[in-house]
Amino acid sequence: MATWPEPGGEPVLPAGLVADFREQLPSFLREHYGKWVGHDHPGPGLVRHLAADGAECWTLRLHLPPGGVLSSSTLRLLARWIREYALVGRRTSRQGFELVGVDPARLPALMEEVHLAGLLPGGTGPTLHQVKACVGFLHCQNALVDSPGIARVLGEVLLPLARDGLPAPLRISVAGCPNDCGGAHGADLGLMGTYRRGPSVRLYTGGRAGLHPRLGWAREYLPAEPPDYPGVVEHVVDLVEAWRAGAACGERLGDWLDRAEEREEAREKP
Ligand code: SF4
Repeated sequence: MATWPEPGGEPVLPAGLVADFREQLPSFLREHYGKWVGHDHPGPGLVRHLAADGAECWTLRLHLPPGGVLSSSTLRLLARWIREYALVGRRTSRQGFELVGVDPARLPALMEEVHLAGLLPGGTGPTLHQVKACVGFLHCQNALVDSPGIARVLGEVLLPLARDGLPAPLRISVAGCPNDCGGAHGADLGLMGTYRRGPSVRLYTGGRAGLHPRLGWAREYLPAEPPDYPGVVEHVVDLVEAWRAGAACGERLGDWLDRAEEREEAREKP
C-alpha cells in the first residue's frame, strides 16, 4: 500500500484512471473515512469537521479566480501549502480550494501566507461563496457574455460588502449561454448569457439543491456591457443589499424574494 509522505516530502500521486485514492489518504483521514457527524464555522473560510470519536479536522477554504483558471505559480503555491500545512488539498464544487487537515496551531502562519499571497479565505457559512463561472470567453465558441469576467467583477464588488456576514449563504453562478455549464439555474442568484435583440444577461433567483430542490426563477434581462458589465453589477448589488436589510436570519435570497413578492401581491389586492 502506498504511504503518505511526511510533511515536506514528495507526494505520492494516485496512478491509473480511477485510482483508489482511499489507499493513499493520510492515516488520519483513512481512519475517519465516512465517520463524520457534524461541522461548524469557527471563522471566515474555516470549517471544523467533527468525527463520531470526537476527533476534529480543520479545513481552510480559499476563494480562487473564477472559471477554474489557475496559473502554474498558483498551483505551486497551493501544492506547497498542502505539503507544509495540510493533509490534502481539494477543489471545491464551486471552483474554490480547500486545505484539509490543517493543524489549528499552525493556522495563524498559514493565514499570514494566504494574506501575503493576496488570496482570501472564505466561502463558508452565511456569506458570499465562491462566485462560479463557466469558461465562457476563455475558450468557448458559444459564449454570449464574458461569464468569468462577470464573476470576477461581482466577486470584487460583493466580497467586501459581504465581509460582515449575510442572512444566509449566497451562491452566485454565471453561465455564458443557455447551456448553463456555469450552473446559473441552481444558484441563489444565477446570471446567464442569452440573446434578446443582441447579447444580454438574464437573471435567475432562488435555485437550490437540498431536500426541496428547485431551479431558479427567470427574471429580468440585464444589459450586456463588457468588459465590466456595470448594469449587471448595479442590479445585483441593489438586490443583495435589499436582501441583507430585509431578510430574516437564515432566509435564503430566493425565499426572501418570494416572501417580498407575496407581500406586494397582498397589498395590491382590493
Ligand atoms: S454555458 Fe455556454 S458559454 Fe459557458 S461553457 Fe457552456 S456552452 Fe460555453
